[in-house]
Amino acid sequence: MPEPGTLADVGFREAVVDLGAITSNVRALRELFGTEHFIAVVKANAYGHGAVPVARAALAGGADWLGVASVDEALELRAGGIDAPVLAWLHDPDEAFDEAVAAGVSIGVSTMGQLRAMAAAAGRRAVQASVQFKLDTGLSRNGLPHADWQEAFTLADELERTGALHVAGVFTHLSNATLQDDVDCLDLFDEGVAAARAAGLRPELVHAAASAAALRQPHARYDCVRIGLALYGLAPTQDPARARELGLTPAMTLRGRVAHVKRVPAGTSVSYDYTYRTERETTLALVPFGYGDGIPRAASNRGHVWIGGGVHRIAGRVAMDQFVVDVGDTEVAVGDPVVLFGDGAHGFPTAEDWATASDTINWEIVTRIGGRTKLRHV
Ligand SMILES: *Cc1c(COP(=O)(O)O)cnc(C)c1O
Repeated sequence: MPEPGTLADVGFREAVVDLGAITSNVRALRELFGTEHFIAVVKANAYGHGAVPVARAALAGGADWLGVASVDEALELRAGGIDAPVLAWLHDPDEAFDEAVAAGVSIGVSTMGQLRAMAAAAGRRAVQASVQFKLDTGLSRNGLPHADWQEAFTLADELERTGALHVAGVFTHLSNATLQDDVDCLDLFDEGVAAARAAGLRPELVHAAASAAALRQPHARYDCVRIGLALYGLAPTQDPARARELGLTPAMTLRGRVAHVKRVPAGTSVSYDYTYRTERETTLALVPFGYGDGIPRAASNRGHVWIGGGVHRIAGRVAMDQFVVDVGDTEVAVGDPVVLFGDGAHGFPTAEDWATASDTINWEIVTRIGGRTKLRHV
């Protein structure tokens, strides 16, 4: 990882992703959780880190499954040459699953219609389809409602007997509200798993825990965890020190180059709406990132960046393409490196700092980075 002062070869606007960190994070988590299976969640372009390279790095660290939301994301992994098992769980209502079945993608099923569509696709493609039941145990998003469980398991058992499909897993997703809320959901989930088995199904994978539950409730791990956030080196507690304790390293460094520098007198107004005025003579540095690149406008006057050897606050509004930083009397020149966030252990602001400054969570900060930002894998 780059250290302050040794930032060489910095691009104008780039997210540098340390794939070695992804691999070692997965290794550390695998050891910590000790489950037979580990699903590395690489949806939303691997939380902004780049789906295909991150998937490879996670598999190298010992993940044996990949998880994504949509079929398109699963097919993108296949197109990238990845043939590891993939699970996708959020579908277009008109999805016919032909490509998914042909590509051997396991489908998370939340409706009776999806179960029937998978059997039909398997028939057309003359292969056995893989499905995993996603049970709604409280989150009220997708997931098969409790009232449909029995009917779905019975139909799935019939379809298994015809050879059309195999139920490879049963899973649920938790709210992380209170521990007791999650315990209640897991009790209902256990009932669902038992009902599936009683109906004749033999799922190899039983999984409930994403990063937060896997870390705080060992009994939610079953024989498989579905980990997103933590594999990127971030803690669900929004606490970088906690992530470090767990042996995790933040994989993404968002950085660029100072595009302009101005020495200005006291009373100089800065950026849209003039929400910032300099109190004394000072230096303003222009950073070429804006909300068009995923920087939250809510961080106006609140977010911090590393620049000229130290951390300085954003002055005024974050605009679409740029924001200004008041660096005081710090020596800053055009072309100098600026780090928006990275590893706090190197003195950089963190994704969590940005989350706090924008009233959001670290998940959103890394995932929203995009637009004109170049993804660079090292
Ligand atoms: C996004 C997602 C995950 C990963 O969650 P993290 O909190 O990032 O670990 C796991 N399971 C499902 C169903 C998800 O949608």
